[in-house]
Amino acid sequence: MASLARVGISRCLLGENVRYDGGHKLDRVLVETLGPLVEWVPVCPEVEVGLGTPREPMRLVGDLHEPRLITINTVVDHTDAMNRFAQQRVRELEALNLSGFIFKSASPSCGISGVPLVSARGIETPDGVGLFARAFMEHFPLMPVEEESRLHDPQSMKDFLERVLAYRQSRNQV
Ligand code: SF4
Repeated sequence: MASLARVGISRCLLGENVRYDGGHKLDRVLVETLGPLVEWVPVCPEVEVGLGTPREPMRLVGDLHEPRLITINTVVDHTDAMNRFAQQRVRELEALNLSGFIFKSASPSCGISGVPLVSARGIETPDGVGLFARAFMEHFPLMPVEEESRLHDPQSMKDFLERVLAYRQSRNQV
């Protein structure tokens, strides 16, 4: 029997308690609809970089292209640790032959677009990209990526799955 396509996913979307508040963001639509068709490869950048659960929430601050990842109350800067982790983790993921990745929206680590970004003057705009997601997309520029929030639309879900299968076929992984 042919193996299932491997798809990376932000770990909290599978219902694991890895969020900063000790909770999860189980996405039943994803798990029930796509789950039987793929093999998940869960990743939680903030836990894997060693921040633990629960932890102080963070946000993106500063430059649009090189934002800092900073805790909201104590202003601890985790940017360098996260960037180092991300570079290492994407190389590990390369060996797993992923065919796609579903990221948690709005996260300063996982969001692929529209993440709140606070400028040096304290103005918040929805222009940020999570640090791990950015590293992932730079390392795998052709791989299909999507946020969970968009996949609740049946057509978007179907399109994503088709892109995943086409990517897999293009890499001769069938
Ligand atoms: S959004 Fe990403 S970093 Fe945050 S809990 Fe989920 S997997 Fe972990």
